[in-house]
Amino acid sequence: MDLAPPELIAKYETVIGLEVHCQLGTRTKIFCGCATSFGAVPNSHVCPVCLGLPGALPVLSREAVELALKGSISLNCTINPVSRFARKNYFYPDSPKGYQISQYDEPLAEHGWVDIAVEGQGKRIGITRIHMEDDAGKSQHDGFRDSERFTYVDLNRCGSPLIEIVSEPDMRSSDEAFEYMTQVKQTLQFVEASTCDMEKGHLRCDANVSVRLIGAEKLGTRAEVKNLNSFRFLKQAIDYEVARQVAILESGGTIHQETRLFNSETGVTVGMRSKEDAHDYRYFPEPDLAPLRISEEWLNDVRSAMPELPAVKRVRFVTQYSLRPYDAEIVTSTRTSSEYFEAAVAVSQDPKATANWMIGDLSGLLRGTNTDYSDAPVSAKHLGELVWMVQKGYLTGKLAKDVLPKMFESGEAASVIVEREGLKTISDSGALGKIVDDVIAASPKQVEQYRAGKTTVIGYLVGQVMKASRGQADPESVNELLKSKLSQGDLTCL
Ligand code: ADP
Ligand code: MG
Ligand code: ZN
Repeated sequence: MDLAPPELIAKYETVIGLEVHCQLGTRTKIFCGCATSFGAVPNSHVCPVCLGLPGALPVLSREAVELALKGSISLNCTINPVSRFARKNYFYPDSPKGYQISQYDEPLAEHGWVDIAVEGQGKRIGITRIHMEDDAGKSQHDGFRDSERFTYVDLNRCGSPLIEIVSEPDMRSSDEAFEYMTQVKQTLQFVEASTCDMEKGHLRCDANVSVRLIGAEKLGTRAEVKNLNSFRFLKQAIDYEVARQVAILESGGTIHQETRLFNSETGVTVGMRSKEDAHDYRYFPEPDLAPLRISEEWLNDVRSAMPELPAVKRVRFVTQYSLRPYDAEIVTSTRTSSEYFEAAVAVSQDPKATANWMIGDLSGLLRGTNTDYSDAPVSAKHLGELVWMVQKGYLTGKLAKDVLPKMFESGEAASVIVEREGLKTISDSGALGKIVDDVIAASPKQVEQYRAGKTTVIGYLVGQVMKASRGQADPESVNELLKSKLSQGDLTCL
């Protein structure tokens, strides 16, 4: 199948709705006491409940409900005081019960939203619903001697607690989908509902994609691309799907509602099955679980135990610390980075400069070593001290840029390094005056030019003084001192 070229794609509008599955960060499974573990010996964390043995009864985990509530509140949803579990019936070898326990027409939470920004444009993406459900096991098709003939099943993941976050079909490009997913991930991590570790499959998403001619009212028929487990794949799969659908429509064909799989090696989506409708699942209320009731009191307890949300934090950082919105956005992108910022500012007393150091040099060092603010070799207190020294004039900004990597390497405080290496700013006016005099004496040509009105040569002279002082002079004082000395009529030193 050929893909449509950009000029044909431009005639269409893309419509995307995402179903995000997120594994809640509980220690145990949603309906039994088995440990949620990743990478354990296959089938070692199972019991009659998660194996779906006859007569075993599920018991809902309170911890799972609380994490689901945190996630739902953080995504601006309304919590339903009563929600109900339902059986979604289908057969698959990695689901021994023969059904998934999910929620259907009475989900835990509804009517939320996420604000995203794409190329500076703000946009609100609606969340239709968030419901709780259990995960299936894993089929292993490769890696065994007899994989040609057999598929192995590992049921450790069976019964892991999930929330499914269903969005409105509000996204209009793969970039918007990418941004939405990024915000959802950051938010859920922030409130510690989930680690959202995509490599472990703790965050995965199905992308529903359709296209319609620009200006058309009716939504196009969608294809659902299953189980995208990275941001890059999400974007690739959507872009591929759009080009595929436009090509079909442009050649007079019709889109069939179907479920497709994305092949990350070829970058192509392949039809898997025609899409089931809800009635195919024969949903019915789960008879072994009571309705889930969330009292006002419980909800308030959960709410009050939650950290300040990223969006609120961002606004506070702009007003309280006078950060630019862009800087506030970066500094608050994770919980650890925002805590680091506030701890550093408490020492530096200079929010703007602290943010600059974090966004610039420090994040470069972190990226280079694949570390995070939570285990940064430079503590928040130490960064704060470095910024403070620069602001107070004890260390020039230029030398501070060399000191930070040394702090990063050794874990030492800036003051220790500055003391040992003798990098302190030369503030003694006698010592500085001597260097300035030497430079003036050594640059008669530039001095003459300056006196003749070409004042820009001062830059050269400042540079010479900085060099002679090994960067330890404060450029502003140098500038002032030079000007005053050059304007003196008779320079005894000349
Ligand atoms: P299911 O996939 O289980 O049938 P829904 O019907 O609730 O569930 O829809 C799932 C997702 O598909 C939602 O995120 C919704 O926004 C999205 N969606 C629905 N119709 C379209 C469409 N025409 N184009 C793109 N996305 C759509
Ligand atoms: Mg779906
Ligand atoms: Zn179990």
